[in-house]
Amino acid sequence: MDTDAVVVGAGFAGIRMLIELQKLGLTAVALEAGSDLGGTWYWNRYPGARTDSESWSYCFPFPEIEQAWNWVERYPGQEEVQRYIGFVADRFDVRRNVRFGQRVTSAHYDDASARWAITTEDGSSFTCTYFFTALGHLSVPQEPTFPGRGSFRGEVYQTSQWPKEKVDFTGKRVAVIGTGASGIQAIPHIAQAAEHLTVFQRTPNYVMPAQNHDLDDDFRRTIKDSYPEVWSMARNHVFGFPMGPAGRTYDDVADDAERDRIFEEGWQAGGFHFVFETFDDLILDQRSNDAAAEFIRKKIRDTVHDPATAELLSPRGYPYVSKRPPSGTNYYETFNRDNVSLVDISQNAIETLTETGLRTGGQDYEFDVIVFATGFDAVTGAISKIDIRGEHGVELKEQWSGGPETFLGIGSAGFPNMFMICGPQSAYANIPVIIEKVVEWLSRAIEHMREHGYQSMQPTPQAVEGWTKLVADIFGMTLLPAGESAHSWYLGANTPGKPRRVLFYFGGAAGYFQELDKVADADFEGFDFSQAPAVAAR
Ligand code: NAP
Repeated sequence: MDTDAVVVGAGFAGIRMLIELQKLGLTAVALEAGSDLGGTWYWNRYPGARTDSESWSYCFPFPEIEQAWNWVERYPGQEEVQRYIGFVADRFDVRRNVRFGQRVTSAHYDDASARWAITTEDGSSFTCTYFFTALGHLSVPQEPTFPGRGSFRGEVYQTSQWPKEKVDFTGKRVAVIGTGASGIQAIPHIAQAAEHLTVFQRTPNYVMPAQNHDLDDDFRRTIKDSYPEVWSMARNHVFGFPMGPAGRTYDDVADDAERDRIFEEGWQAGGFHFVFETFDDLILDQRSNDAAAEFIRKKIRDTVHDPATAELLSPRGYPYVSKRPPSGTNYYETFNRDNVSLVDISQNAIETLTETGLRTGGQDYEFDVIVFATGFDAVTGAISKIDIRGEHGVELKEQWSGGPETFLGIGSAGFPNMFMICGPQSAYANIPVIIEKVVEWLSRAIEHMREHGYQSMQPTPQAVEGWTKLVADIFGMTLLPAGESAHSWYLGANTPGKPRRVLFYFGGAAGYFQELDKVADADFEGFDFSQAPAVAAR
C-alpha cells in the first residue's frame, strides 16, 4: 500500500498525528500492534491503572471535544482514557485509517525514490514519504529475567500486558514484584481480593496521595468554561500541568514548621501538586529536596502501624523525583492489612522462580499467582525493536549504539522524513500537551516543505550534537542524575546492559516549546532539506 504517511502506533500520539495529516490533506495509515486504540491505555489494564495527570489536562485542546466529553474522575482510569481516545478518533473519523494487529518490524529508507518502505510481522508492506513513530515512552515491557521463569506452575501476569479478561485473585496467594507507579496502583486493589499478598520491593518509592475523586457537574462546567486558561497554564508550566509555579524556594521560608505546613497543603492537594506547588527548587536544591523527602517519610511513619514495615517503605539514599514519583490511593494504608506482607529484596535479589513460587534470601515463598510490575525498556525500547535504516542503509540501532542522539527529540541525522512524536530527548512532561505541540510543529514543517518543493528534511549532525549536549547539560544542573543509583528509567538505568544517556529534555514544557518555535521561526534551522523538483510535493 502506498500512502503519503505511515504512523506507527495508535495511542495519543498516533491518533493526534492522524488527525493532523487528515487536516493537511495527506493520505495516511496508522499501524497498531494491539486490537484497539489506546497505546499504553490499551495494554496497561491492570487493576487500579489510572493517570497521574488530572483528566482535564490529559487530553487534547480540541474545543468541540472539550465541550462534548465529560470526564468522570479527577484521575481517569484505564477504561475511561481508552474510551476518550476512541471518542476523539471517531469524532475526527480517523479510526478507519488504523490497521490493527500490525506490529511493524522494519522501516527502510530508499535513497533512489526518497520513500520509506515499512513492513509488519505478518508480511504486509507499506510505502510512504513521511514516516512517523508514535511509539510511547513506556511501551516495551521489561522482561523479567529471573532464573527458573518457566518453572512456576501458577498464574503469571505482567502489569504492562494485562489480559482483557478480569483476573480473579479471590482466595489466592499472590506475589507482586515491583513498586513503581504500576505496582503502587495495583497493590491496593489486589490486596482487597487476595487471600494473601506479598510485595517484593527492591527500592522504596516516594508515593504521593492522588486524592482522586469523582467530578461533579459544577466542576465540569467550570473546566469547560476555562479551557483557554487551562491550556495557557499548562503550556507555561514546567511539566505541562495547569498549575502555577509555587512562587517560593527553600530560602524564602524561615522555619521547618512553615515548610511542613506548605508540604501538608501540597499533600492534601494531591499528586503532582505536592511537587509543583510547594517549592520551585525541589529538584535543584538539596535542602529543599531533603525537606520534601523527610516530610514524605514522616507521612509513611504516621500511616503504617508497624515501624519496621514503615522503615522498609521509606525511601532513602536518592533524591525525591530523581525516580518518577508515583501517585497512589491507599498505598501505604494497604500495608496495615493482615493479609499483606512486604519483603525487602534490596540486598537479596530474587534467586529463582520455583514450581510453587520463588526463592530469595535463601527462603522459599509459595504463591498461586505472580504479578510482575517490573517496568519498561523505556523511551528507546520500542524504536530499537524496529529494524530502521536511513540513507545508505545506515541502521538507527548502530547509530544509537551509545544511546539515542536526536534533534528536539524529533529527528535523527541520516533519517530523512523520519519524525518521532515525542522520541528520546523530547520534553519530559504531561504527555498530551507535548504531543499537541510536536504535532503542530510537524504540521508546520510539512507545510514548509510543500511550500518550497522540498522532498525531505533531516537534522544536521551539528544540530543533533548540540541538542544531545543541551539535554545532558540541563539534566546535570538538577538533582536528577542521582537517580541512576536507584535505577531511574529517565537514564535507562532500570534496564540491565542499556547504555546510559539522558533520555529527556528536562528544561520544562515551556522551554521545549520555545526551542521548537525558535527552530520553526528560523525556517527550520538545524535541518537540511533536499529539493527534488522531479518528485512533486504530494
Ligand atoms: P518502574 O517505575 O520502572 O518500576 C518497576 C519496579 O520493578 C521497580 O520497583 C523496580 O525496582 C522493580 N524491578 C525491576 N526489575 C526488578 C528485578 N529484577 N528485581 C526486583 N525488582 C525489580 O515501572 P512501572 O511501575 O511500570 O512505571 C514506569 C513508568 O510508567 C512510571 O514511572 C510512569 O511514568 C509510568 N506509569 C504511569 C502511571 C500513571 O501515570 N498513573 C502508572 C503506571 C506507570 P527498582 O526501583 O529497584 O528498579
